[in-house]
Amino acid sequence: MSSEKTAPAAETREFQAEVKKMLDIVINSLYTEREIFLRELISNSADALEKFRHQRLLSEEVFDDHLPLEIKISADQEQQTLTITDTGLGMDRGELESNLGTIAHSGSRTFWANLAENQRKDLNLIGQFGVGFYAAFMVAAKVRVQSRSYRPEEPGHEWISDGTGTYTIAPCPGIRRGTKIILELKEDAGEFADQERIKQIIRRYSSFVPFPIKVADETVNTVQAIWTRSKNEIKEEEYQEFYKYIANAFDEPRARLHFSADAPLAVKALLFLPQENIERLGFGRMDPGVNLYCQRVLIEQHSKNILPEWLRFVKGVIDSEDLPLNISRQALQDSALVAKINRVISKRLLKFLAELAQNEPETYEKFWNTFGMFLKEGAISDFNYRKELAGLLRFESSHTEPGKLTSLSDYIARMAPEQKDIYYISGPSREAVETGPYLEAFRQRDLEVLYTLDPMDDFALSHIGEFAEHQLVSADRGDLELGEAAKKEDQDPAAAEKAAAALPPEEAQALAAWMKEVLGDKVKEVKESKRLTDSPAMVVNPDGFLTSSMERVMRASGQQMPDFGGKNLEINPGHALIGGLNRLRREDEDLARKITAQIFDNALIQAGLMTEPRAMVGRNYEILARLVGRGPADSA
Ligand code: ADP
Repeated sequence: MSSEKTAPAAETREFQAEVKKMLDIVINSLYTEREIFLRELISNSADALEKFRHQRLLSEEVFDDHLPLEIKISADQEQQTLTITDTGLGMDRGELESNLGTIAHSGSRTFWANLAENQRKDLNLIGQFGVGFYAAFMVAAKVRVQSRSYRPEEPGHEWISDGTGTYTIAPCPGIRRGTKIILELKEDAGEFADQERIKQIIRRYSSFVPFPIKVADETVNTVQAIWTRSKNEIKEEEYQEFYKYIANAFDEPRARLHFSADAPLAVKALLFLPQENIERLGFGRMDPGVNLYCQRVLIEQHSKNILPEWLRFVKGVIDSEDLPLNISRQALQDSALVAKINRVISKRLLKFLAELAQNEPETYEKFWNTFGMFLKEGAISDFNYRKELAGLLRFESSHTEPGKLTSLSDYIARMAPEQKDIYYISGPSREAVETGPYLEAFRQRDLEVLYTLDPMDDFALSHIGEFAEHQLVSADRGDLELGEAAKKEDQDPAAAEKAAAALPPEEAQALAAWMKEVLGDKVKEVKESKRLTDSPAMVVNPDGFLTSSMERVMRASGQQMPDFGGKNLEINPGHALIGGLNRLRREDEDLARKITAQIFDNALIQAGLMTEPRAMVGRNYEILARLVGRGPADSA
């Protein structure tokens, strides 16, 4: 008597919509490099074997414990079939349905749902997401999957589909643990029934699979853990092959770090920086790219524990013989040793990036343009590496040419002798920053200002706080002390003339008090500016904590914010508009009030903070109507 449960008979089901779309693309568009289907299937088998190896350490009883862990491939010229068999952990009925009928990862689901026609042929991009199992339909007219789980009570099943919309699942008694995939090859895919061709493909794509891959009892792959060998024995091509294997990539890595340490921890790491950043292309959050090994045995694939989350773009392996082999997921998370390896390697990697920036600035700059967002994320989310990360940040500045970047260290090297702080100002573009009011005072004193053009920049800098004992200060702070000494206008006769025409201090103060009354709760204070030279007014942040850019981002993400009550408005008593306003408020207070509100709104726009333009536009028209002499005041 069999101990297997009685299962329902054959059942036909529809593929999930995204799978249908993916299959349509796989079957009809991806004609180049069809041979990668084998790499995908072998990699699934290897995953299943790794998972089984781990599961066996944790479970009391597994089915077919005696089977060797391997992948067997047989090609049948006569039948025109190719069969891939593994002794991995297998799938039960439910797993066959959900694994081979849906796309689980939400990022790739969105990717497939949105993939535009013209991108369909971009194999490189698609390769990053992996068509995985479904690649089988590039070469097969029909795919049969026979699988039996490692769990002793689960019976075997067969899954069959021609990839055109439905699949069938039926019981399949008497099979061994693991998965057998039988490809009934398409007419034009006969080459894949040829044993020699299959061996060639395995050598090309799957040399590093850590289980034997056998074709007619011959092991084709050379099972080797490249990271445990010494650097000078490894050829450049071997590194590149390994990268392609581990990162599922078609291209070459941007840079590589291979190192080993014995004390305080025994650890070996082989890490790569890839070329592409798919998160930047908008396809959701990527999984971590580093696998954790203990003495060449995989402990955790795409490990969430071995590096901080913001280093998820790094691909490669980390191997430590200090870890216990049968460590569980939970124990990995809680392990002090894992945390320690995490710190050691993160530091080493950041040092590697600093060296790259030093020795190959152009390579580093390209890396920064592609992956800088992750380092900023680290600066914001991780307290442990702020100093190292600060050194890696890059910005445009008032002293760089457009498009050229500077580091904080280079900024410090250019600082005036009496300058203490590092200044930055945000804006949507270089042009917007340079025509806005905030730079005026800095330009006048020839002080350099970093341009934080990415919304994440201000968060990163405000978290970092200081660098090499210099405070990082946003130029839209209210309480800036820039000093008078270096002011250029002292030598400029035109500026001196302007200063003479400015409102006298007591008039300016009275005007400011009146404007505050007009604006009410919208501002905290209205003050005479010590900074403005060319613009009539600007808003500043009195507390110096939240910059306008940060406020904008937080509003955009739906966070509740006070309604500008925290801002100060600074006015320029030397500006003709401000002088004129002071006269007007005695002659035509109503118009002066409107103009005051308009000045404030203009200043908000320049700070990037205008959220509701309707009232502003209405008022603006009223002012314009008065100007052309047909306003309601005249007609009344
Ligand atoms: P991915 O491998 O990226 O998750 P696939 O479409 O290749 O996507 O496979 C989907 C799922 O099917 C896998 O995650 C795995 O759970 C399961 N699977 C595929 N092939 C096998 C296999 N040979 N043995 C066991 N499970 C498998």
